Amino acid sequence: MSTGGSGAARPTFSYSRIQKFDQCPAAYELRYLKHIQPAGISIESYLGNTVHTTLQWLYETVLEGEPVSFDGLLQHYRSAWGQRWSNSTYINSPGWTTDDYFQLGVRMLAGYYRQYIPFDEPVVGTEFDLTFPISTADDLWMRVIMDRIDNYGDGRWAIHDYKTGKNKLTVAKAESDLQMRIYYLAIKKTYQEAERIDVVWHFLRHGEEHRLDDQQWSTKRLIGTLTKKINKIRLAETGGGSFEPREGVLCNWCFYWDHCSAKEGSTHPARRAR
Ligand code: SF4
Repeated sequence: MSTGGSGAARPTFSYSRIQKFDQCPAAYELRYLKHIQPAGISIESYLGNTVHTTLQWLYETVLEGEPVSFDGLLQHYRSAWGQRWSNSTYINSPGWTTDDYFQLGVRMLAGYYRQYIPFDEPVVGTEFDLTFPISTADDLWMRVIMDRIDNYGDGRWAIHDYKTGKNKLTVAKAESDLQMRIYYLAIKKTYQEAERIDVVWHFLRHGEEHRLDDQQWSTKRLIGTLTKKINKIRLAETGGGSFEPREGVLCNWCFYWDHCSAKEGSTHPARRAR
């Protein structure tokens, strides 16, 4: 599928990278500095990746002029689920089975299909990849990969983000959602013609769309926030900070326990998905 730009060969920051440092500096160090692969993946991440891949395929197929039936969509989902399956997939929720998660994905896709057929939005890209400068003076760059971008051709663009988790954003949280604001900044800085930008979250488990039309976030304030966050990470990386473990509820979805000083000798509560 087309993408909006190419990843430059320079160190870049992403929303996930900033979020990981905020959540747990120890996990950040293991992933981004020591490049250690986690021992597993949560089934929620697996489901999310597979649903995203399936929706990407849907729009790619439609853009090629081919109709997509619901059976065809399901077939693609089933095949992607099987092909990508890893024996290191883990389940945390008591009573939930692998099939429960698979069926949850079917319901999400069925809801999306019913709501958006015939998929005639002016899509210009899925997994839309952009690298852009936050500050050229400080050599701060960011890379984003956005789920879907629409361009209406009259200066109006829309950024779409698919959510497969169980929590929805409140209106107040949506207004301050850092991930979407970074996507907004990426479009604003890359496309001069983007005069009006709508931001759209798709809460697939709930079959709901949350849309903020003609968003007017302050790019100056956002650049300030990002610069501060990135500089804090850079300081830690150059020896001016530490990578202490930050224990919390997310530890049960983290698969670095063998490498984490806070969890050494403990048994991870998740069970292997079968
Ligand atoms: S188990 Fe918890 S404290 Fe340890 S690295 Fe993972 S998230 Fe951080």
